Amino acid sequence: MTLIDTHCHLTYTGLLEQQAAVVQRAKAAGVGAMVTIGTHPPDHALVLQTLARFDCVAGALGVHPHHAGEVSDDFAEALEAQITAVPRVVAVGECGLDYHFYPPAECARQRPVFVRQLEIARRLNKPVILHVRDAHAEACGMMRDFTDLKFVVHCFTGTPDECESWLALGAYIGITGGVTYKNAPDVRTAARLVPPDRLLVETDAPYLSPQPVRKIKINEPAFVAHVAQRVAAERGVDEMELARQTTRNAVAFFGEKAFAAVLANSAA
Ligand SMILES: [Zn+2]
Ligand SMILES: [Zn+2]
Repeated sequence: MTLIDTHCHLTYTGLLEQQAAVVQRAKAAGVGAMVTIGTHPPDHALVLQTLARFDCVAGALGVHPHHAGEVSDDFAEALEAQITAVPRVVAVGECGLDYHFYPPAECARQRPVFVRQLEIARRLNKPVILHVRDAHAEACGMMRDFTDLKFVVHCFTGTPDECESWLALGAYIGITGGVTYKNAPDVRTAARLVPPDRLLVETDAPYLSPQPVRKIKINEPAFVAHVAQRVAAERGVDEMELARQTTRNAVAFFGEKAFAAVLANSAA
């Protein structure tokens, strides 16, 4: 095994219809494992079905800030029970704050939904996947009360200063195919700034297809190889070394059990 896609949505339209082929192409591209992220209750059911189908897929369940307005006040109880029940659900999330698309009233609703999930992660001793867009200062402020948690700021798109603030709190940083986009110099800066042991690579598929397949193909876990290649080039390190390091980081972050079936195979 060389690479792990630490963040994708195998349950979203475009990938859901062709999961088996997508997983097969990932393996062929050297992507031995992936983490599929559930973002709202109906999606959680699909994630659990996906985990039952593929032993190289681990999962995370959370309420994405886009869906914060849809859940009832007692959503956390059911979410916690679901995470507890299935061992291959290895993280809480994605959850966080996204102020890019929403009016202030909806942003206010995102905060308590976010905090409830951080509390679940603390109770269950699980890592957390954070989705933060145009809200870095505020999310960083909230995480100061949760620095005992292991967390990743996935699909990082903030400024170098924001990246430094997250690193100071102990965050892992997830880099997507955005690193290959001409108009995203901050993502490349982040890809260089992050210390080797805090760096994760991800696709966020079906979104954000990296070059050279951008606007040509829907994104899928196999393409995390393009992300890793560009990150290695930015950091001036060998691609194999970057793959080894980020895979070690993914195992450290999600836990060995997350990828147990795959790690056992690659050791054999
Ligand atoms: Zn996200
Ligand atoms: Zn996502």
